[in-house]
Formats: sequence, C-alpha cells, structure tokens
Amino acid sequence: MVFDCAVIGGGVMGSAIALRLAQAGQKVVVLEKSIPGAEASSAAGGILGPQIEGDHDDPLFRLCLASRDAYGPLALELIERAGIDVGHRRSGLLLVKYAGEDVGPLDARLAWQRAAGLEVERLDGDQARSLEPALSPEVAAALHFPNEARLEPRKLAQALALAAQRAGAAFRKGIVRGVAVEDGKIAGVDLDDGRLPAGAVVVAAGAWTSKVAGTGLAADVVRPVRGQMTELHHPELVLERVVFTSRGYLVPRGGGTVVTGSTMEEAGYEKKVTAAGLSRILANAVAAAPLLGSAEVVSSWSGLRPCPKDGLPVIGAGAVPGLYVASGHHRNGILLVPETARLLAAAVLAGRDPEELAPFSPLRFAR
Ligand SMILES: Cc1cc2nc3c(=O)[nH]c(=O)nc-3n(C[C@H](O)[C@H](O)[C@H](O)COP(=O)(O)OP(=O)(O)OC[C@H]3O[C@@H](n4cnc5c(N)ncnc54)[C@H](O)[C@@H]3O)c2cc1C
Repeated sequence: MVFDCAVIGGGVMGSAIALRLAQAGQKVVVLEKSIPGAEASSAAGGILGPQIEGDHDDPLFRLCLASRDAYGPLALELIERAGIDVGHRRSGLLLVKYAGEDVGPLDARLAWQRAAGLEVERLDGDQARSLEPALSPEVAAALHFPNEARLEPRKLAQALALAAQRAGAAFRKGIVRGVAVEDGKIAGVDLDDGRLPAGAVVVAAGAWTSKVAGTGLAADVVRPVRGQMTELHHPELVLERVVFTSRGYLVPRGGGTVVTGSTMEEAGYEKKVTAAGLSRILANAVAAAPLLGSAEVVSSWSGLRPCPKDGLPVIGAGAVPGLYVASGHHRNGILLVPETARLLAAAVLAGRDPEELAPFSPLRFAR
C-alpha cells in the first residue's frame, strides 16, 4: 500500500497529527521504534501552563495559550473516540516565592499579563495557603493563574494513539533510518527492511529528530535535554493546583498522589535517574509541601525533552516537497499538542504552511 503520509514517531505529536490526517481521509502510517508514547510523552508532568513562564507576548506565547484553551474540547473528543479520560482539569496554578526570595519577577509578570487582558492575581502567603493548605508556612507570596490546567500525559499518549488507530491510521513498529527522496520530492521512509512508500512524511521523532537522515536538519537543531521525575503519595495530602517554585514543581494527580520534577540536564541520550537529580527534586517537593517529607516515593523516571537550538519549536514544511517536521517542543510538548496537530495537518493537506507557522518554520535553519 502507498500511504498518503508516513509519520515518524508515535509520541503525542505523531499520534495527534496522525489522528487529524486520518480524520481528513488520508491513508496514514505511524512508524514507532519503541512503544507509542513511551518516551518524553510519558515522562511529562502534564502541566498546561503558558502563563507561568510567559514574560512577554510573542507568537509562541499565543500558540501556547490557544493550545491550552483547545484542550477542553480535545479531552472530550478523546473520551468519545478512545474511551479514555486524560484527566484534564482547569485546576489553576500557583507560582510561589518563599520569604527572602525576590518577588520582582512576579510583579513584572503580573503587570504585563494583566495589561494583556489575561487572568492572574497576586497573593500573600496566607492567601496562597487558603487556596492550598498543604503549602509551607515559608511561602510568602504567589501568583495565581486560575486558567492554567493539567492532565495525565500517559493517558493522553494512549488516548491519542488509540483515537488515531480508530480513525484509520496504521501503527507499525520499526526504526526509520531516513526519509527517502526521489526526483527532488519525498518518496517515503527507509526502514531496516526496505522502503515504505508515502506521498508525504512528518518527522515527529522528538529528541531523535536530528538523527533521522535526509531531513536537511543539522545535528544540533533538536537535542535531548534530560528531565527526572518522581511520583509521591501521602494519604493525607490535599492539593488541587499545580505548584511552581523557583526550583521545581508539584503536579497533583488526585487521591494524595503528586508528580514532582524536574531537572534540566545535558546528558545526551542517557535516560537515568540519578542520586543528585532525585535529591534536588525531593528537597523542592518537601520544602513546598512539608507533609511530603513522610510521603512514600512510589516511582521515579527520566525522559528526553526535544530541545530546539533557538528556543522555538520546529513545525512546518521542510526543505524537500512533501517533508514536514513537528518537533522541538521542549518543555511544552504536552501543552502544544492540539495546535501543533491542527496546524501541521493543515500544512500537509494544503501542501503549504498556514501563516501561523511562519515563526516556527524548519526552513529558518537553512537560511
Ligand atoms: C521530565 C519531563 C517533564 C515534562 N513536563 C511537561 C509538562 O508538564 N508539560 C508539557 O507541556 N510538556 C512537558 N514535557 C515535554 C513533553 O513531554 C515533550 O515536549 C513531548 O512529549 C514531546 O512529544 P513528542 O511526540 O515530540 O516526543 P516523544 O514523546 O519523545 O516521541 C517521539 C517518538 O519518536 C520515536 N522515534 C524517534 N526516532 C525514531 C525513528 N528513527 N524511527 C521510529 N520512531 C522513532 C520515539 O521512540 C518516540 O516514541 C516534559 C518532558 C519531560 C522529559
């Protein structure tokens, strides 16, 4: 069978794009070297938080906001199509500062976001604890972002892959060595056991994107940045909102369970949980919510974020007709799923990028 489109990578990006293309009537195949969703997509905290680190208005900030706001409908769609509740909650998020920490950055963020019409409020320590009583008495100030949200990334990855399959996308296990080009345009992908013909190819290979041969992307365009995480459980812990400190975060999962992270490490492709990484994450968690000092450490893991060279995701048509890239989403790859899938699928179907993708075009690295 000649596929209309071959998608390299079955993480949240590849699966979501396959879903949208299959829904548009395309014959799609997803090539995945491991288990769909098992890499960065399953390692994530699941924070949908464009405002938390937004220091100015730009196209990436707007893309992140639009994507956060598209999650409500996507979560409902996934219940309908895959029968999986991805745990999407518009829980809000608290960015906290301890006594003695500089609150200048909080006030600057508050000022510009309010001026831009976004919802955010400044709290003192007691007000923050009235929202989240588990917070430390050392918390002295906070920003509350009521529209920020969270979900469970492993369920999201599973739901997107299942929904894509139910919409008609095929999933095949295999390592793609490179994209195949004939007569100056995409002809398919090269696997260990031969060529798989396809009219278009989407490279959604996460931290491995630059390793796929023939894309024209240099080795440093997308690189892996390791993040370590732990899951903690305390039966008496009550926490609803995501909590950010200057050293890490807590993401509630309900029922006394939180996921805490994370590290940002240049460690190549080595996925490992280290003593130093764990001790930093745990110290941050216990400082933010002291009850966690007696929590059970349920599990720990690490994952590789696809970090782009210039800080912007790499989304859109590539250097060869029929080649597309959806990668480099770094720390916001869960957040950016709905809008990336919508815009990249539109690019594949039209044969050219929608205007919104101009700042993220892979072609910027060829200039
Ligand atoms: C610790 C951690 C915490 C995070 N927290 C958040 C968060 O709270 N919120 C948020 O928005 N984002 C978060 N992220 C970022 C987010 O997880 C990623 O940006 C996102 O999952 C990237 O999705 P992806 O599909 O591009 O990559 P991946 O999930 O890595 O998927 C790429 C897939 O491609 C496959 N592949 C690669 N090369 C080939 C090949 N040659 N042939 C076949 N298959 C191939 C891989 O096996 C993999 O399954 C976090 C990431 C980490 C590591």
